[in-house]
Amino acid sequence: MSEEIRNVDHTEETTESFRDRIATVDEKVKRNWVYAHKPKGRFYNIRSVVSWGFFALFFILPFIKINGRPLFLFNIPEAKFIIFGKIFWPQDFVIFGLTMVIFIVFIVLFTAAFGRLFCGWVCPQTIFMEMLFRKVEYLIEGDAPKQKILNNGPWTTSKTTKKIIKHVVFYLLSFIIANFFLSYIIGMDELKKIITEPVSQHVVGFVTILIFSFVFYAVYAFFREQACTVVCPYGRLQSVLLDPNSMLVAYDYKRGEPVENIKRTKLPKLLQVIVLIVSSV
Ligand code: SF4
Repeated sequence: MSEEIRNVDHTEETTESFRDRIATVDEKVKRNWVYAHKPKGRFYNIRSVVSWGFFALFFILPFIKINGRPLFLFNIPEAKFIIFGKIFWPQDFVIFGLTMVIFIVFIVLFTAAFGRLFCGWVCPQTIFMEMLFRKVEYLIEGDAPKQKILNNGPWTTSKTTKKIIKHVVFYLLSFIIANFFLSYIIGMDELKKIITEPVSQHVVGFVTILIFSFVFYAVYAFFREQACTVVCPYGRLQSVLLDPNSMLVAYDYKRGEPVENIKRTKLPKLLQVIVLIVSSV
């Protein structure tokens, strides 16, 4: 690339560089750790209440039985599925397949109309991350600015203690979630056997719980929002499912770019509004 073209690209960078990469990586493709500010407000409170409902469902459903069968079972190793107490065997997969197709069409239409409503309010990744693990993090390490200071600071006794407590709590929560997650695959009765009988009789089950625990811990302690940007197929699909009419809370580059360092706090309120309007035109 000639020097001239590089200069042109550099000039463009002032207004268009935000398109080059997602905000969670820098120009060297190194991860930018997200320090999320503690949200507050009416919708966050409603989301918290909704999330308690989901937690209750997640932890209660494995105990519910209909005619001696679990309400839901997704036993992939034995190809046995129970949905609302009804058994689906491999030969019933036409029904299952049709249901999945209807579900996918619904998801596509729902996303086109309501954007990322599912991601914010229903997705287990968000619910566990934002409504459980993140809240524990706020409790132990404080809000985003305090977390940043803590992470960038030296390894004092206080920092070490906070980090150990956080990761122990994270692993314990992951361990509990992993147990319940496994109960949706093998059933609560089998899980109880793994828990109460000698480990030597359930080596596979025991190792599976440890693996699930470790995966959940790794996702919620370290991987976090990257699950949405690099793993989740629904997250990848959303860029083609959304259109200008979709309901969406998103970054508006016309208003946000170029990013300028305006010291708004020193400006009077009216002037702040004028600056905002002028910079968004
Ligand atoms: S992108 Fe995928 S993982 Fe992320 S919140 Fe949405 S559905 Fe969940």
